[in-house]
Amino acid sequence: MQFIDLKAQYNNIKDSINDRISTVLEHGKYIMGPEVKELEKRLSDFAETKYCLSCSSGTDALLLALMAYDIGPGDAVFTSPFTFIATAEVISLLGATPIFVDIDPDTYNIDINKLANAITEIKNGNTPTKKTPDALTLKAIIPVDLFGLPADYDAINKIAKKNNMVVIEDAAQSFGGSYKERKSGNLSDIAATSFFPAKPLGCYGDGGAVFTNNDEIVEKLISLRVHGKGSDKYDNIRIGLNGRLDTLQAAILLSKLDVFAKEIELRQEVAQRYSNGLKDIVKVPSIQEGYTSAWAQYSIQSDKRESLMGTLKENDVPTAIYYPKPLHLQTAYAYLGYDEGSMPVSEEVSSKIFSLPMHPYLKEEDQQKIIEVINYTCH
Ligand SMILES: *Cc1c(COP(=O)(O)O)cnc(C)c1O
Repeated sequence: MQFIDLKAQYNNIKDSINDRISTVLEHGKYIMGPEVKELEKRLSDFAETKYCLSCSSGTDALLLALMAYDIGPGDAVFTSPFTFIATAEVISLLGATPIFVDIDPDTYNIDINKLANAITEIKNGNTPTKKTPDALTLKAIIPVDLFGLPADYDAINKIAKKNNMVVIEDAAQSFGGSYKERKSGNLSDIAATSFFPAKPLGCYGDGGAVFTNNDEIVEKLISLRVHGKGSDKYDNIRIGLNGRLDTLQAAILLSKLDVFAKEIELRQEVAQRYSNGLKDIVKVPSIQEGYTSAWAQYSIQSDKRESLMGTLKENDVPTAIYYPKPLHLQTAYAYLGYDEGSMPVSEEVSSKIFSLPMHPYLKEEDQQKIIEVINYTCH
């Protein structure tokens, strides 16, 4: 059994992918070929945003979004410690200061009350740790839509507006999901997603995209993506990146987009079957009314994590832990001086959570087997 079965997906759309790839090999426009624009149009249609700008990875998408808002030294950027390192890494790379805010124990997304409190503390001149720089400017919030479930954007946008901050959706796991009839990618000022192969919409390498409705910001993003170019490529007006998406990856994504909406539906069915079979045995994901998860991961919590993962492995069922160590306790973030116990929910969840195989092509009989193994291990 596969944790994420990319081969099953390829077999399903093989002809289309192969045709798209050979078209690129024939026209030879490997950098910014016609597929890139075509993809950006399809993606902005899908997310219902005015603009989509593809780029080289989800990490670069986040970086470009932060750079477009001139985030840098002296700025406070609030985010979750229960995420992939990239979310916080881009804040640090730009010299800004990540302020970690603990998560909600049910959604695993940023806790709204704790976010409001953390902002008030900074406003009052109180830093979260002794090592946090003083006199930070409130600048941005990066909510992470963990495992594919959007955060509570109405509440977050309201807090941001009150404090004149920007909201950058980390939609790396949630593209294809939605919140109150709005698509992930279109829930705040700007959004970043990833096309890493294992994400809900993945290419065959690295890729990402930024989404916005803002005319000025998109101009900046276009420049930042290609070394800060001005109207001429050899007359640069700001410091930027080499952040383009390869034409080949755009071509692959165009094929995958043809089946993406269907795949998101299939993911709902897979998740529903897991939840029906597991809800009385372990803590299953809780999806509130008005939210649709893209189901990047199906994660459960149990006190018996190690034995469960062990018996599943013996039965040829792969599992993974997202995330074993919250960011505030990682060595890379020792410089911020957060203590153990400072983010109790993230710390507890990281000791109990793990993820089961999740992809649109997961067979019902395989899921039945997984549910049975978990059932007998827990009894
Ligand atoms: C995968 C991921 C990223 C980074 O995406 P890459 O394409 O791997 O650079 C950022 N944030 C989250 C939450 C992710 O899961």
